[in-house]
Amino acid sequence: MASCTYTVPDKAASGDNFYGAVICNQAYVDYFWNTYGFSGNKAYWDDGWGWDDCCNTSKPLARAFNGCYALTYSASDYLNDSYSAPILNWGRRYVRENVDDLRSFCGDGTAIARSKSGGLVEVYLGFFYSKDVPGRAETLIHESRHQGGKPHDANFPSGSVFGSGKSGADSSWDYEGAWMYGALYLWWYYAEGARTTSALRERARQRGNLVIDNAFATHPGFSI
Ligand SMILES: [Zn+2]
Repeated sequence: MASCTYTVPDKAASGDNFYGAVICNQAYVDYFWNTYGFSGNKAYWDDGWGWDDCCNTSKPLARAFNGCYALTYSASDYLNDSYSAPILNWGRRYVRENVDDLRSFCGDGTAIARSKSGGLVEVYLGFFYSKDVPGRAETLIHESRHQGGKPHDANFPSGSVFGSGKSGADSSWDYEGAWMYGALYLWWYYAEGARTTSALRERARQRGNLVIDNAFATHPGFSI
């Protein structure tokens, strides 16, 4: 961490103030640590990443925990994480069942996250400082979908903010890939999210529409 630099954007806008007021609780910290792949990976979360300062929402670990809180508790009936319920309910379960190790790295400054073999997900500075809190939950679901066996299978469409013609898109919504899972989650968070704010729900809607408009080779044909 000593070798990577970052700036902290407005924590009211990102949701880090809102969620940060809640996550500073040993029961939550223990649950997230033991459930979402942090356990066994302390070496990747200390030395400035926040292990010894895990309520400080300027540091990466607390910001990851904020995303974990949104992932875990945004369904009003969050204890129901059945796969027959909406993704707002089972997103937490899908991440729990697919991510074995979650490790932080600087990355190149703009990189968000990457899935590696064997249940390993790496998160980079962009995860902590360019994604807002619901966007971090989206990223965890996106990477979990890769772990679940769905690689990207297409190139980004012309005009895509993710890079026209570059690899990393999904062919279609019906492919049910990582972009679809993330956008579907944001859609439900916008429509039915609990323990959040109307401003964060609106941000989730906007991010979901950005994904829908830019991450599919064939546009899904709808918006949130
Ligand atoms: Zn991906």
